[in-house]
Amino acid sequence: MAELQAVLTANERISKETLGPRADQTDQSRRFPRENLVDLGKAGVLGLMVPKEYGGWGGTLAEMSRALEAQGQNCASTAMVVLMHYCAMATIAAKGSEAMKQQVLPMAARGEHFGTLAFSEAGSGGHFYMPVSEARNNGTGTELSASKSFVTSAGEADSYVVSTRRAGASGPTDVNLYLIPKGANGFAAQGRFEGLGLAGNASAPMSLSNVAVNDDVRVGAEGSGFQTMLEVVLPTFQIGVASISIGIATAAFQTITARVGARKYEHAGGAALASIPRVQFLVAEMAIELNAARGYLNETIRKALGGDPTAMVDVLGVKVKAAEACLGVVSRAMTLGGGWAFGRKGGLERMFRDAQAAAVMAPSSDVLKDFIGKACLGLPLF
Ligand SMILES: Cc1cc2nc3c(=O)[nH]c(=O)nc-3n(C[C@H](O)[C@H](O)[C@H](O)COP(=O)(O)OP(=O)(O)OC[C@H]3O[C@@H](n4cnc5c(N)ncnc54)[C@H](O)[C@@H]3O)c2cc1C
Repeated sequence: MAELQAVLTANERISKETLGPRADQTDQSRRFPRENLVDLGKAGVLGLMVPKEYGGWGGTLAEMSRALEAQGQNCASTAMVVLMHYCAMATIAAKGSEAMKQQVLPMAARGEHFGTLAFSEAGSGGHFYMPVSEARNNGTGTELSASKSFVTSAGEADSYVVSTRRAGASGPTDVNLYLIPKGANGFAAQGRFEGLGLAGNASAPMSLSNVAVNDDVRVGAEGSGFQTMLEVVLPTFQIGVASISIGIATAAFQTITARVGARKYEHAGGAALASIPRVQFLVAEMAIELNAARGYLNETIRKALGGDPTAMVDVLGVKVKAAEACLGVVSRAMTLGGGWAFGRKGGLERMFRDAQAAAVMAPSSDVLKDFIGKACLGLPLF
């Protein structure tokens, strides 16, 4: 426990002293933040979610949330890369074969390997849990050809948890997950997706052409992929994105409260922007939004870790709430920052762009509300 706390403390220090100062350049040059991953890896942060028996720190969703919030507060691009790595490692730890775990997890714990998820396909868009690609038997084994539309860390990550319908699938949720190493025959990352925000996360399409996907690279039992997405990937991803959103909102709040105190008007005898009631009102709204989202996140983590049967609705809702709170806080901060913020001072404009991704990343906020509404009404989700 003391060691886990030390890793979290190191993560907070590196986030503030290293990720933060590099964030503007990562954003402006749209460069993958490899040096940040090296620094975080050396401090054990990439092994946070790796079980102790494989050399990691055995962190839970609570520690993951704390780590991602600190990273998100300083460099959301890096936080997103780390989150997708955590999702991949959590999937392997929960469902991978012993040989697969031995092959990947100790390296991840040492910071020498990082992974990501390659789920989304153009044919199902934000409904990523229903891939349209399908593996096929070629007489000697199973192979996969698929186009993945958005993959964080595409071409940068060492391994990819890939989803597809299994050969001869009975329907769209008859899915397998496979672990494909970078450089596998038939694997290719295809250029860059020039996103509005999270510019450093190397999000790009990826193609798989007749890639061998035999039993040894399957993550979990035949046809278990859909269940694994719901049980393992969904909570990790949802809580992770919510944590990053809260990190971005916290940074925007701190930046703008400092700014309105420092911005003085000569014509008003040196009075600060902070002395105007409307400014105080907006700051109050930001504080309430941020604290409400943080409270919801903490409550969701508590329920998820405690096995509360009602946790799933909150797991679905918390990403929506955190995304909306983040957008609300950052938009108000942009207003209060005026030309200073619009002119890219203080990083607010980057935070404003980074904040947009959470609502779009699948399941999008609208799709999540669709699920939550159905769940509350006792209707089937799929
Ligand atoms: C920065 C970034 C990083 C990403 N990283 C990864 C990654 O690492 N791995 C990965 O697999 N994917 C990743 N994605 C993909 C992401 O998770 C989504 O799958 C993708 O953004 C969906 O985009 P789309 O344009 O196909 O959405 P579409 O499916 O075209 O949806 C368009 C709009 O329609 C709405 N909509 C669709 N269905 C419904 C419905 N039933 N009810 C209400 N509204 C609906 C959606 O809310 C959305 O607003 C990433 C995306 C981004 C932006």
